[in-house]
Amino acid sequence: MAAVVPLAAEPEPAPDLNAAFASFIRTLGAYLKAEDIAQVEAAYAFSKAAHEGQLRVSGEPYVSHPLAVATILAEWRLDAPALMAAMLHDVVEDTATTKQDIAEKFGKAVADLVDGVSKLDKIAFQTEAHAQGENFRKMLLAMARDVRVILIKLADRLHNMRTISVIAPEKRRRIARETLDIYAPIANRLGLNSIYQELDDLSFYHFYPNRYQVLEKAIKAARGHRREVVGKILDAIKQRLTEADIDAAVTGREKHLYSVYRKMQDKSLTFSEVYDIYGFRIIVKNVSACYLAMGVLHGLYKPIHGKFKDYIAIPKANGYQSLHTTLFGPFGTPVEIQIRTQEMHKIAEAGVAAHWLYKNSEAEAGDMPQKTLQWLQSLLEIQSESGDAVEFLEHIKVDLFPDEVYVFTPKGKILSLPRGATTVDFAYAVHTDVGNHCVGARINHEMAPLRTELKNGDRVEIVTANYAKPNPAWLNYVMTGKARSHIRHHLKTMRYEESAALGERLLNQALRALQTDPADIADACWEKLLREVSGNSKQEILADIGLGKRMNMVVATQLLAAAESGGERKIVQAGAVIIRGTEGMAVQLAKCCWPIPGDPIIGHITKGKGLQIHTHDCPAIASYRDDPDKWLDVEWDPQIKKLFKVNIRLVVANQRGVLAKIAAGIAAAESNIENVSMAEDDGGAYTTMCFVLQVENRIHLANVMRNLRAIPEVVRITRMKSEAARREGDQNAKNRPLA
Ligand code: MN
Repeated sequence: MAAVVPLAAEPEPAPDLNAAFASFIRTLGAYLKAEDIAQVEAAYAFSKAAHEGQLRVSGEPYVSHPLAVATILAEWRLDAPALMAAMLHDVVEDTATTKQDIAEKFGKAVADLVDGVSKLDKIAFQTEAHAQGENFRKMLLAMARDVRVILIKLADRLHNMRTISVIAPEKRRRIARETLDIYAPIANRLGLNSIYQELDDLSFYHFYPNRYQVLEKAIKAARGHRREVVGKILDAIKQRLTEADIDAAVTGREKHLYSVYRKMQDKSLTFSEVYDIYGFRIIVKNVSACYLAMGVLHGLYKPIHGKFKDYIAIPKANGYQSLHTTLFGPFGTPVEIQIRTQEMHKIAEAGVAAHWLYKNSEAEAGDMPQKTLQWLQSLLEIQSESGDAVEFLEHIKVDLFPDEVYVFTPKGKILSLPRGATTVDFAYAVHTDVGNHCVGARINHEMAPLRTELKNGDRVEIVTANYAKPNPAWLNYVMTGKARSHIRHHLKTMRYEESAALGERLLNQALRALQTDPADIADACWEKLLREVSGNSKQEILADIGLGKRMNMVVATQLLAAAESGGERKIVQAGAVIIRGTEGMAVQLAKCCWPIPGDPIIGHITKGKGLQIHTHDCPAIASYRDDPDKWLDVEWDPQIKKLFKVNIRLVVANQRGVLAKIAAGIAAAESNIENVSMAEDDGGAYTTMCFVLQVENRIHLANVMRNLRAIPEVVRITRMKSEAARREGDQNAKNRPLA
């Protein structure tokens, strides 16, 4: 290509590596201590050796790239660890060196920075959609944690953009697009003005070479005429300020190329509409001089209404401060004026890097105007009192978006979720059906439980199953309102359906007790009943029975009364309600006695809570055991195949390895341990252990207990079925689960 990017450093001839290194070291001499420089030199030597034999596409030795990146960072006056990390930033990715090697050789701080940069490199910008740009930028910033990681990454990108001409056109376009969408806006956001403009213009040049050249030509042509006008206005402004006794530096300024282009595009303006605006910058001593200068200039040219902006009182999000105003110039063209102090100017030009750039010169970090730093304080948690540079840097941790976490879908889309969100939130964010049927997740290709908290950059894939349903326990760890409301809604519907199913069984039992075959109850009877009790539907009445809001016997009697006129009834056997253990929330196994199949059981209807199943001998119900109205005959389904919780207590001799023996005995009987807790070891000869086990039924439990009795150290075994057991059971839940 004939054209040379005007902004790019001269690519040919290849700069001499030694000369480049020598000039880099000279730069360091201006602000680093000798021992720090020695460290940076060591990192350079290490990088050079590691990249030995590798070449850049341009044919230069590879190490010229990290050296150039470190040189850019040295211009921003970054500290030694950042420069060392810049030297080493491609070593882990491209050579046999590991993070561990770097940590051992150069310390953990440097290794962490290198690791941070590699992590950013790994999350490839996967989507074409520009709409994802904002989320992607946030994800990068959120992942970087340390602001130096972003600065290294930006310097890396800047050098790559400066030397991109040698790369194949298609790849060049892709990288330029990515720079426009992601990296230039980040530089802008951090207030790194000159880097922002250079990244913009380089990307523009490589993405739209023709448009760039046309615009460049137009600007060159316009400049001649402009220079004259600019000179006249400049003189007028200077003179007026001198007359008013305001000490000021006045300069003309020009928009960068891409911003001219973007303004033409965004606002559908012609080139001259955008370009024939004259911009001036006035730098004064202090804030009051800013306002004074503004008043003076408003006397020189008439201000355009509505164009005055006070970013001194209300700084921009990136810390930028200035007064802006637009005046009617001498030739009827608008004149844009920015007025600010030297401090504000530094931050406007160098943004976040201003801290390093100016720390060693006249201004200490603590001297910077508080308002200017407000954004930094919230973003970077600056310990401003701390004069110690090292401590200062350590505290600059970026958490730009403390309330959000950004994750990928399998297709590369980025979702933003609240911090602390789990895979269940993610599943509902993808789709309600996915949420309602999720059973697990793969995070970064590894299986993970549903309650796993998501981290920035995770790639999440939800595993679903048709049979799966929302679980009330999910409500304990979902963060999003969407997940919460869907789970609640589903549970409510589910509960209603399950209650109706139970209600039907309870009603049928009552009908049989009244010597009636439930199949003989005609629809007409139901209609009559609904009219009498002003119910809405049969389903509703059944759900009411299941929930204990209506008595089954009462409804059965009402139905029979309604049927009185119609036909004869078959005599049938009244039976117990069969408990299958799969009734869901409508039937609950009481937590006081933990019934399992094989235990004689009894049912108790609690208003609004459905049917509670207790063992016959449950102490919790002893007081109202004799009131027959409250009790229902229930029986276990003989075909039942399900695991039930049971609570047992062991007293064992306090000997080494006894827990392992017990666990083996339980496993040998094919039972699972859900939870175990032990009394504090008080040094005594015996100790008590409580287990929550999963068993199928009493026979299964008997097998487990037989195995345990065979262990010599086990002195006593008790199954817990009392209030005390429940309390201990709750206690167990707080102790360590084995799972
Ligand atoms: Mn690189």
